[in-house]
Amino acid sequence: MVWHAQLALALALASPVTAWCSGKSDACSSNPIPLRKFNELNFHADTCNLKWNLGCTSLNKHGALQQKPPPYPLCNSGHQPSGVLPVDAYTLALQDNTFAPGSANWTLHGLWPGSAGGSGGQNQPYGCLHGEEFDETVLKTFDSMLKYFWPTNPHFNNTMQCFILSEWMKHGTCAVIPGRADGTAFRLSQEDYFRTAFVMANEVNENLALRNRLLLGEVKVEEVEPLISTRCVQCAYLATEGWTDTDVASVPRMSADCLDQCFECGDFWDTCPPAQLESTVMLDPSNAPRNEMPSASINGNASFPVLEFAMPAFVSSDNTSPWEGTWRSFGAEQGGSGKFEFAQTFTDNVLTVTTDSPYPRTCTYEQRGTKELLLRCGDDHLEGCLVQRLPDVGELEAAFLACNHTGEPAPASFYAAMDIQGCGNFLMFRCKASAADCSFSPDAISASKPETEIKTEPLSNSKPSLVSHFQPGIAGATPSLLGSWRSLQVSSDYEKGLGQWSFTADGQASLRWPNYPSRAVERYSVSHSPEDPSLVLLASASGTITTCRFQFQYHPVYSYAVLDCETAVDNEENTQKTKWAMGRCNPCSAHCRYSCGPENNFCGHGSCDPAESLEAAPVDALPSPSDDTRIEDYDHDWCTPEDASCWPTETAIRKLEQELDPTLPRLGLQWDKYPTPQPAPVPKGSFNDQSFYGLGSAPHGVKALYYYEDIAEMQRPCFNPSGFHPPFDEWNAASDMCKAAVHQNEYRNWNPFIVVFPLNERHVVAALNFAVRHRLCIATAGTGHEYNSRNSCPTGGILIRTILLKDKKFISTWDEDSTLAPAGAFRFGAGSTFAEMHAFSKDYSRVIASGWCSTVGMVGFHLGGGHGPFAPSMGLGVDNVLEIEVLQIGHDKYGQPVIHKKIASRSQNPQLFWAMRGGGGSVWGVILSMTIRAHEVPNGGLSRVYMQQNGTFCQDSSKYGYQWLPDMWNRFTAWQLSLNQKVSTQPGFFIEPKDYKTTGDLCSVTWNFTFEYFYAGGQAEPDYIRFRDGLRDVLQTETVTETNFKSVYDYLVSDTMPPSKFSLIPLNPLPAEHPPSDNATGSQNSVFVSRQALETKFASTMMDVLDICVKTLKKPDDTSPSGDKYRCGFHYLYTSLTGNLGSTQPGDTAISPGFRSAVMLWNARTLTTKQAEETVYKLGPNSYFSESSYVMHNWTTRYWGEKAYEQLLGVKKANDPGNHFWCHHCVGDNPADAYGKPLGAATQAGSGEQPDAATQEEFVKAEKL
Ligand SMILES: Cc1cc2nc3c(=O)[nH]c(=O)nc-3n(C[C@H](O)[C@H](O)[C@H](O)COP(=O)(O)OP(=O)(O)OC[C@H]3O[C@@H](n4cnc5c(N)ncnc54)[C@H](O)[C@@H]3O)c2cc1C
Repeated sequence: MVWHAQLALALALASPVTAWCSGKSDACSSNPIPLRKFNELNFHADTCNLKWNLGCTSLNKHGALQQKPPPYPLCNSGHQPSGVLPVDAYTLALQDNTFAPGSANWTLHGLWPGSAGGSGGQNQPYGCLHGEEFDETVLKTFDSMLKYFWPTNPHFNNTMQCFILSEWMKHGTCAVIPGRADGTAFRLSQEDYFRTAFVMANEVNENLALRNRLLLGEVKVEEVEPLISTRCVQCAYLATEGWTDTDVASVPRMSADCLDQCFECGDFWDTCPPAQLESTVMLDPSNAPRNEMPSASINGNASFPVLEFAMPAFVSSDNTSPWEGTWRSFGAEQGGSGKFEFAQTFTDNVLTVTTDSPYPRTCTYEQRGTKELLLRCGDDHLEGCLVQRLPDVGELEAAFLACNHTGEPAPASFYAAMDIQGCGNFLMFRCKASAADCSFSPDAISASKPETEIKTEPLSNSKPSLVSHFQPGIAGATPSLLGSWRSLQVSSDYEKGLGQWSFTADGQASLRWPNYPSRAVERYSVSHSPEDPSLVLLASASGTITTCRFQFQYHPVYSYAVLDCETAVDNEENTQKTKWAMGRCNPCSAHCRYSCGPENNFCGHGSCDPAESLEAAPVDALPSPSDDTRIEDYDHDWCTPEDASCWPTETAIRKLEQELDPTLPRLGLQWDKYPTPQPAPVPKGSFNDQSFYGLGSAPHGVKALYYYEDIAEMQRPCFNPSGFHPPFDEWNAASDMCKAAVHQNEYRNWNPFIVVFPLNERHVVAALNFAVRHRLCIATAGTGHEYNSRNSCPTGGILIRTILLKDKKFISTWDEDSTLAPAGAFRFGAGSTFAEMHAFSKDYSRVIASGWCSTVGMVGFHLGGGHGPFAPSMGLGVDNVLEIEVLQIGHDKYGQPVIHKKIASRSQNPQLFWAMRGGGGSVWGVILSMTIRAHEVPNGGLSRVYMQQNGTFCQDSSKYGYQWLPDMWNRFTAWQLSLNQKVSTQPGFFIEPKDYKTTGDLCSVTWNFTFEYFYAGGQAEPDYIRFRDGLRDVLQTETVTETNFKSVYDYLVSDTMPPSKFSLIPLNPLPAEHPPSDNATGSQNSVFVSRQALETKFASTMMDVLDICVKTLKKPDDTSPSGDKYRCGFHYLYTSLTGNLGSTQPGDTAISPGFRSAVMLWNARTLTTKQAEETVYKLGPNSYFSESSYVMHNWTTRYWGEKAYEQLLGVKKANDPGNHFWCHHCVGDNPADAYGKPLGAATQAGSGEQPDAATQEEFVKAEKL
């Protein structure tokens, strides 16, 4: 019978002391909820509080004795009695004992059940079932243990009785733990509660590993209050079984088998495995957690039942050790070569280690307790070992052996062993006796000959089969199979033993033989059955299909599995069977701490929990971008300032601030002028040329975080557009918050609520944890160069500003593949600007294929594509990235968010690596560093050429007038088309119409064509001379500036690069009366121009665009966001891509095909969407993600193309399953929203944001073209 029903019955029988409660005090008697019964001995109905029986008194203000003031209510203010909250975890409150001599070093303050729905600082449910009287004999019975483990701290001015009574009444009455194997709740009795607490306290004092984890490495603090899981308390309870003594020496130790559970909670609720144990369950002994295993399991051949969260409890047996016999094994520690296989035979207190172990030896052992061995090898070498049976997998038994070679005691647990340096850990397997044809006997190893010769092919012949190779099922491995597995073939043939299976997220598998490098690497493409993910199909390059059954044992630290395969041979008449026993570190625990190596760093690819593996959406099963369901399917759930349940409080913000080490100096943004490289861009007009308007200047530097105390301020523009005219004092006077958030454009007044300046990875993790806890939309930024507000969220949210991550390192040999980077590589922190990177590369006589602007940041440039002065000869930004280090938010086995780090490179997380090279900014996680290819300085150095020409819009045939331009554009086109890979250009065509208003004469409208280009080589080279003279003819000028540099940094510090050259202009180019619309598209309309389009359409299109300008001069366009109402912006015409003759165009990045092969990028300002569709967009289907308009229809197609977008979205979902990272017109944003509408805003008629019907029709037509 459930408790409620019993209580109802009790109430029906109505004792006279029954009372009702609805509030904290007098109103208690009117509580309408019939769920509680009070015990008059302990409860004051009038105060709804405890009645203190013994000594719980204090002096009132008149000096009279009074009952201690109620420390907590036993009634909730609402309608819920406090006793019905579920328990999620416990707080183990421990005090550093400096007050009770002779007691334990760490004493208990309490063992407090906690609940997400509880109250107070610890979210505790108070006084559950407070009708249960405190048994004061407990004080007597446990006197010595209470004094030793639970003394009252004089600081609380309390009596022992009062302290312990209140601990029970307040907390102990709520203590429930998982009961029987099905996890049903079990409430602890008073005796059990105290005994359990003593076991916990004793373990903390005895067990260094536990203490170090729970007590933060014994930092000197008075009290620590770590969270522990309900399973950990269950583990302590299990130790109390059969324990009846009451003296300190008799307190039993917790079993290592379940002690691991104590480490599962991080700092916060959401990292504890949720238990959700109803705290009102009856105290029912039959529901007690099961400690004993079925008797059959004592026999080593029996199956061990799997506990949901734990390794199975170890069998206590006086008879045979369940591990006795022979096992085959491999190393299961962090790191290690993975090249050794072993056989361990345990007999009669002798352990013999054989096979190819470098340490073949025979040791004697003494058994200590159920799972601890003391090994004696040779005369005096002692090792403490933990040996533990694990649940069976497939037809194999499994066990774990961990020996502390250092002579230290045996590791306390499986979990701890993984963490101990110098601890030899082995994952051991053997056949079950019942498995008839299982041949895995090490005894036969040395005698056996290989059954068949193993086929070897030269490595070069072994190519991966294509993912698209026809196979039934879902492409890719089921998530639990992902990663790199140390594997033993289940065979009596020793040479077939040790292999390494790797399953990657892009559907590839490989099998390597660590001890036989000459053996071919076998490669397969992988699929799995949609109905049964454990059925895995491997297709070889020759088309042979191997069918495998994958059986998996998940553990939060280390998982193991069996892969049981069958391949058809001899025209499918026969089959060849192979079976693998495999183990790998499980990276899906918080921070991926236990990933043995980067090969298993695949966090985020869904959960490792087999139960969830079906949920992972395969990339190729995603609906197309036009499918609206996808938008809902991947929606966000960010907190808004209106939602007090999640929006961060001042206290939470202060806590985050502490985690960011606020006292550490953050001075890296101050700039001392060249030759010091610029650490960040200087906003236009900033005093003393300081970045962030001097916010980070000495002596204080930037703060660890900034936030808006007033939300209304957050929703106002930071930089008033009217300020975009000298003097800029107004901007310099902006709030610190605005300065901290400063970025190029501020569309729609989306400002971050909090800006943090991390100094290291730990700080970024803290910021991400904070963001997850408060469900904040996360934006990232370094320099703030991004044009389209991609570093701000619509709901405020958090901005993680990585500008202070400035590490730099030269890597002379890129080991992963030195042919990719023959001149080595540079690893730079995410806050690096090109100025800093060039200054550093100069020291190594190297060049980085940067952008044109020295203050552009490395990260945004490389994510978007990256064109620049060396791209035609050295590749685009995306072609030069070798590795990216990124922090992401995945989820663990329990579906809880965890922060983890990933390395993306050609060999690790290759899909993510592909997506992050061209897939755009912000949405993949927070990047910590990038490794970029270094290039030798070209022979002859770097030559810069600068020319310019000026003219007017005079309509007559005067030289340099409007009629002179068409021919100039034709000459320009021919010259551009002749360029080879050595030349990279940056021509800018600027129109100045300001005098037209007063003169009304087109001759007063001027143009200025500035032409800068780089030649990768010396000035004496014939090509150099040819191109220079050719451009002179194009511009019809004699004036040329020519300079030669040994390094790019020399160019930056030359007078051709003043600090203000590329300043940040934090303006909103769409002032309030012009919100983003088809008339005010923001930033620039860009198009990649192919060789053919350049040749056939460019010159005439340019004149069409200039005609638009002329038209608006004559008849100003009121819809123009430009102050003068003209549409006469400027045009950049970069030939700094990879479309030049002789440039290479690698096909392994996510940039669009139009970008890949384009010869020119045209960035045009101030056109309407319609005008762009009719002119520039007709030159090519693709636009540049990093330089494009804020308003864009069909943006997924223009940036990437439909197919590539589908793939990008698949990668995004796999890597950011919670959709925490967002930005406008980035992967994951709403493909149907051209305008970046404010969230939830209904379309307003006449707002100008939506095209009218006629225009809409035009779009449809244009998009079809
Ligand atoms: C003056 C100027 C000159 C330019 N010149 C060129 C050029 O020559 N060639 C060219 O190709 N482009 C050029 N651009 C465009 C430039 O490449 C993009 O604006 C680019 O996004 C800037 O990157 P950033 O890191 O400096 O800017 P930010 O605004 O700091 O960031 C840009 C994007 O990267 C993301 N991001 C930044 N840091 C991180 C991080 N640590 N983790 C995850 N995401 C992050 C941001 O969220 C944002 O989406 C120029 C832009 C300007 C303003």
